[in-house]
Amino acid sequence: MEKTAKMADKVEFRVTFWGVRGSYPVAGKDTLVFGGNTTCLEVSVGERRIIIDAGTGIIKLGQKMLAEYFGKGGAKPLYATLLFTHLHHDHTQGLPFFAPLYLGESSLYLFGPRNFSGELSVTLERSMIPPNFPVDFYHSNSIKDISTIKENNLLILDTKNPVPKAVNRYFDGVTINDTSIVVRILNDHSHPVNGVLVYRIEHGGRSVVFATDVEGFQYGDSKLIQFAKDADLLIHDAQYSKEQYCALPTPKQGFGHSTPEMAIEIARKAGVKSLALTHHDPGSTDALLKKNQSKYRRRFRDLFYTREGMSVTVG
Ligand SMILES: [Zn+2]
Ligand SMILES: [Zn+2]
Repeated sequence: MEKTAKMADKVEFRVTFWGVRGSYPVAGKDTLVFGGNTTCLEVSVGERRIIIDAGTGIIKLGQKMLAEYFGKGGAKPLYATLLFTHLHHDHTQGLPFFAPLYLGESSLYLFGPRNFSGELSVTLERSMIPPNFPVDFYHSNSIKDISTIKENNLLILDTKNPVPKAVNRYFDGVTINDTSIVVRILNDHSHPVNGVLVYRIEHGGRSVVFATDVEGFQYGDSKLIQFAKDADLLIHDAQYSKEQYCALPTPKQGFGHSTPEMAIEIARKAGVKSLALTHHDPGSTDALLKKNQSKYRRRFRDLFYTREGMSVTVG
């Protein structure tokens, strides 16, 4: 049960894309414009920083965070909230190289879904263990607070308090005030095998929805349309072209990813202001992505393809 207080003074609300590639990272001259690192984005509201997913894009973000920390003389502890949509490699493979993980002055709050039989802490621990990696996850120096979350949770952050709180949105009384940052969660079941968490981050009447690794349904995914209603920015998977999605003998139907057409249908029906297409296929060259961006802008005016390093204001 939520109570909402008055509107916030406008603090800066930004999304920065550190990795926009799906499946696996790619290098080479054909991906220099849009970038080859796998999924990671940073949502900042004032001083508060929320990172979503830890694909290889998180490595550069970690280096920036460390430079900022030492630039300030290391006077303040470093805080970050890290949300996982799911635990596939392209959303976790940068974590072992995320520099703040090894900094004793870092406090990291990690949230994500339960995967098969494992709580988030167990899955993360198993992903970083000898012989696969020389450093054990728990022996990295940062303080880590790891929580499994699901659709009935609401994460509450605050521009004035670096510690996030997960509450049950049906039972825990929560007052949303003008410094609150609210993260809503939708469990989307279209991605094999356990589905993904879609996040909606709201502050001061502005909102961004991140729906990666989702596949469209006929007539549009009604739950996602409702969840993304009137968002300022919807960031949506569009890994495959319509041709790749359908082409025999190797169609991509059922792989848990969308086409631009599917993303546009959601954006239109939800009435979002801007649509960002992401999770680019490793085989999509800069030339192809530029061509598609022009093509699909004719179907949805405020549309763009995400690029590594790009930063946009929400609202
Ligand atoms: Zn993915
Ligand atoms: Zn995936």
